Amino acid sequence: MIQIDLSGQVAVVTGGSSGIGFATARLFLQAGASVAICGRDGERLGAAQASLAKEFPQAQLLASRCDVLDAEHVNAFAAQVMERFGRVDMLVNNAGQGRVSTFADTTDDAWRDELELKYFSIIRPVRAFLPMLKDAPSPAIVCVNSLLALQPEPHMVATSSARAGVLSLVKSLATELAPQNVRVNSILIGIVESGQWKRRYENYLQQAQEPRQSWQQWTAELARKKNIPLGRFGLPEEAAQALFYLATKLSSYTTGSHIDVSGGFARHV
Ligand code: NDP
Repeated sequence: MIQIDLSGQVAVVTGGSSGIGFATARLFLQAGASVAICGRDGERLGAAQASLAKEFPQAQLLASRCDVLDAEHVNAFAAQVMERFGRVDMLVNNAGQGRVSTFADTTDDAWRDELELKYFSIIRPVRAFLPMLKDAPSPAIVCVNSLLALQPEPHMVATSSARAGVLSLVKSLATELAPQNVRVNSILIGIVESGQWKRRYENYLQQAQEPRQSWQQWTAELARKKNIPLGRFGLPEEAAQALFYLATKLSSYTTGSHIDVSGGFARHV
């Protein structure tokens, strides 16, 4: 196994308090990086911080309450990271969630909210952390995107549309920032077990009649219905490994690109 030593380097993971972001923060800590995570919910953030501090007692870890859609929050988060660590090498734009709605039931406000979330959850952190990234020896930005960008689903019309736009944004950023040596890439996720799927399962439990399916049965049936070739949801760690690859020198000649993490769910060649 290739060992990557990230000691002395700093990784920022937005939405690091749960799911994919949390798994990514763990990988960076395992590799010796200092890590800053953020999230909106203080309790969730505190629990994530405590869990990471327990597993990595020597770790340099900063956990900050921050809504990535709030410019003041993001700027304050960046200032905290600068004060604590003095540099940023890797930025993972992960914070967010999907919106389940068809065209018929998506209001104008819902469209605006979704477009704002998908675009500004990248735009604001990139603006705030770019000055620090530019000073790093081999900086990288990685965005968590979805396979919906290339394979839209009618029941997630606004998310799919916004995801396609994000693919374009990542490409443009990669081109614009390449002369400054900042690489920009993304991962395209199919379905990954995480907080948002756990919440959907809780909703199912509240609405379903007996006998109710276990989490394993429920996810296996969904994977089967969706014809996911690998027959299961992905794990947060599997998405995190692709993010880690794109954030580190393992992918030093890759920019403006994406990795599919969908268990074969992509239908295109
Ligand atoms: P989780 O709900 O487990 O984690 C989401 C994280 O983002 C939490 O830490 C949450 O904390 C944080 N977050 C959400 N909104 C904001 C915000 N405005 N500002 C700061 N933090 C925020 O879900 P996942 O791990 O699945 O999601 C990670 C990313 O992957 C998301 O962008 C999601 O859309 C994307 N994705 C996931 C898929 C999946 O199947 N799991 C499929 C396709 C894409 P808090 O709520 O406390 O702010």
